[in-house]
Amino acid sequence: MTQAQTLSAGTVTFVGAGPGAADHLTLGAFRALQTADVVIHDRLVGPEILALIPVQAMRVDVGKEGFGPSTPQSAIHALITGHAQTGARVVRLKSGDSGIFGRLDEEIDALDEAGIEWSILPGLTSAAAAAASIGQSLTKRGRNAALRILTGHDMAGFAEQDWAGLARKGEVAAIYMGKKSSRFIQGRLMMHGAGADTPVTLVENASRADERIVAATLQTLPEAAAALSGPAILLYGLAPRRAALALPQLKEALA
Ligand code: SAH
Repeated sequence: MTQAQTLSAGTVTFVGAGPGAADHLTLGAFRALQTADVVIHDRLVGPEILALIPVQAMRVDVGKEGFGPSTPQSAIHALITGHAQTGARVVRLKSGDSGIFGRLDEEIDALDEAGIEWSILPGLTSAAAAAASIGQSLTKRGRNAALRILTGHDMAGFAEQDWAGLARKGEVAAIYMGKKSSRFIQGRLMMHGAGADTPVTLVENASRADERIVAATLQTLPEAAAALSGPAILLYGLAPRRAALALPQLKEALA
């Protein structure tokens, strides 16, 4: 067995759970869960994945909601270091890939400070699952030679981005946590010259049973975002090519 498949006592393994479907969990992540003593997970880790945690493992939910109630980051640090210090094999389970908007570095710093060993098992980030669902690739020869991964909001509020660069034709961005800032994003991009008809596809609950795809444009983005209640990725610059069409109006739009 490789090191990634065997958890050691008193260490922390950061595990990317993928966007929600058990099919998208890596085999390495699955094996790590099977040998964990303690699993400390985020709110966005879905029920299909949580069901794979063995009953004998201790499970701690440190749910954090965008703009909502949260477990303070310092309390999460105390939890992961505290459990590791008792000699437990700790899995820190995060949605998607831990290295994308996952506050991974803060937790690594806390472990380093406490002298606790850690490792990372990557996961499938939700943008990859969302792009697959709409039948599009995130990069394409002749269209976009770069993919931007953005957050709609950061610690200071709505996140500023390179709007002028993004407004250029053919740009593609996967926008995380973008629902609440969609009007801000729309305004900034149009101010910098992006066309109102630029496609933006919203993929809610990507890879889950309740996945929903909404084909919008920059013009209709805020209304489309307001109609969603679950976690969503905004795929800026991409229209669905092939999709599990969930909304009747979308079916009509593409007919
Ligand atoms: N580390 C995660 C992202 C965490 S930030 C990853 O790599 O995917 C939280 C944001 O991720 C949500 O606001 C949403 O934009 C996105 N997200 C997470 N799971 C999702 C899912 N199943 N479907 C769509 N978006 C998702």
